[in-house]
Amino acid sequence: MAQSLRPEDDHLEIREEVAKLCARFPGEYWRRVDRERAYPTEFVQALTEAGYLGALIPEEYGGAGLPLSAAAAILEEIHRSGGNAAACHAQMYIMGTILRHGSPEQKQKYLPKIATGELRLQAFGVTEPTSGTDTTALRTFARKEGDKYIVNGQKIWTSRAEHSDLMLLLARTTPRDQVKKRTEGLSTFIVDMRQAKGRGLTIRPIRTMMNHNTTEVFFDNMEVPAENLVGEEGKGFRYILDGMNAERLLISAESIGDAKWFIEKAVNYAKERVLFGRPIGQNQGIQFPIAKAYAQMRAAEALLHQGLKKFESGQPCGEEANMGKMLCADAAWAAAEACLQTHGGFGFAEEYDIERKYRETRLYQVAPISTNLILSYIGEHVLGMPRSY
Ligand SMILES: Cc1cc2nc3c(=O)[nH]c(=O)nc-3n(C[C@H](O)[C@H](O)[C@H](O)COP(=O)(O)OP(=O)(O)OC[C@H]3O[C@@H](n4cnc5c(N)ncnc54)[C@H](O)[C@@H]3O)c2cc1C
Repeated sequence: MAQSLRPEDDHLEIREEVAKLCARFPGEYWRRVDRERAYPTEFVQALTEAGYLGALIPEEYGGAGLPLSAAAAILEEIHRSGGNAAACHAQMYIMGTILRHGSPEQKQKYLPKIATGELRLQAFGVTEPTSGTDTTALRTFARKEGDKYIVNGQKIWTSRAEHSDLMLLLARTTPRDQVKKRTEGLSTFIVDMRQAKGRGLTIRPIRTMMNHNTTEVFFDNMEVPAENLVGEEGKGFRYILDGMNAERLLISAESIGDAKWFIEKAVNYAKERVLFGRPIGQNQGIQFPIAKAYAQMRAAEALLHQGLKKFESGQPCGEEANMGKMLCADAAWAAAEACLQTHGGFGFAEEYDIERKYRETRLYQVAPISTNLILSYIGEHVLGMPRSY
C-alpha cells in the first residue's frame, strides 16, 4: 500500500479505533441499508456509544473536547473503510452553533445530552425550494407572539430529520424589505421535533440516488418557545456562516476518505486482474488515471490539513476551507471514475460497492455548497474580482 494511503500520522490512535469499529460494518451492511434506503441506526449507535459524535463537544459538557482535525480523522476513516458518515456527520458541526452562540442555559440543556446520544441533533434546516443557494432569500418566517415564535414555511433537503430529535432552523424574523442588508433579519432556532411533529411540523422523505435519508419539511403555524432562539434575533445568518468552515473541512475529510478507498480498490484490482497475459495495471491507460487521482488526492489533502491547522489556531481559513472542499470532492470524483473504469463491468455490480460509493461521493460536488459557488467565493473574496451574483 502506498505510504500516504495508510492512516496519516495525526490522530493515529483514533484512526485505528475508528477503523476497528468500521470493520464491524462491512460492505454487506452498507449495501443492505442502501438497497432499503434505511438509516444505518446500528452504525450511528456504535459511533455514538464510542463517543465519536461528541468529539467536538467540550469536556465540561461531557464531550471528548477534541480539535477539528480529530473529527476530520474520524470521518475520513469511516469513508476510507467503505462506509458513509452522511448519516451522522452533521451532529458534529451543527452543535457548534449552540456552543458558540447559545445561552449558558441552552448549552447546559442540550450539549451534555447530545454528547451521550440521549438527544440527536442531526437536522439542519437552511435550504428552501425557491431560494436554494440564495440563502438570504429564504421565505420561512418566524413571527414572535408573546413567549413563542409561530413558524410558517418550508425547507427542502433537510437530511436526517426523521432520525433526529432536534433541528437547527434558519428562518426570517424581519421581512427582507425591512432590513438594511439582506443578511440581516434571519434568526436561528432550536426546534424540538419530538414536540413539533404533528403540531405544525410535517416531514416527507425524498428518495435520492444514494441513501441519504433526506426530507422536505413543512411548517404550518409551528410553535417554537422564544427561549429556543439561539443568540440574538436577526443575527442568525452570521451564526450559520460561522459554522460553515468547520462543515466544509469535515466534508473534505470525507472526500479524502472516499478517494483513498477508491484508489486502494483500483490499485489492488489493477494488479490482480490479468488479461492478455499481464495485469491490466501494467497498461498506462489503466495506471495513469489512478496515479493522477492519487496526486490530486494528495494535493487536496495537503490543503485540507492547512485549513485544519488554521482553523485550530483561530486564523481565518475561508480560503482553505472552500478550496479544500472543491479540490477534495474533485479528487474523490476522479478516483471514483478511475476505480469504476479499472473494474470494467464488475464496477457496476453491487457486490463490489464501487457503484454505491460512486453515487455517494458525487453529492459533494453539489452539497453542502456547489462548485460554482466556491469558484465565486475564490473570485470575489480571495482574488478581489467583482461579485458575480
Ligand atoms: C442529498 C442532499 C442533502 C442535503 N442536505 C441538506 C441539509 O441537511 N440541510 C440543508 O439546509 N441543505 C441540504 N442540502 C442542500 C444543499 O446544500 C443544496 O442542494 C446546495 O447548496 C445547492 O443548492 P440548490 O440545490 O438549491 O441549487 P441551486 O441553488 O438551485 O443551484 C443550481 C445550480 O446553479 C448553480 N448556481 C446557482 N447560483 C449560481 C451563480 N450565481 N453563479 C453560478 N452558478 C450558480 C449552482 O452551483 C448549482 O449547480 C442537501 C442537498 C442534497 C442534494
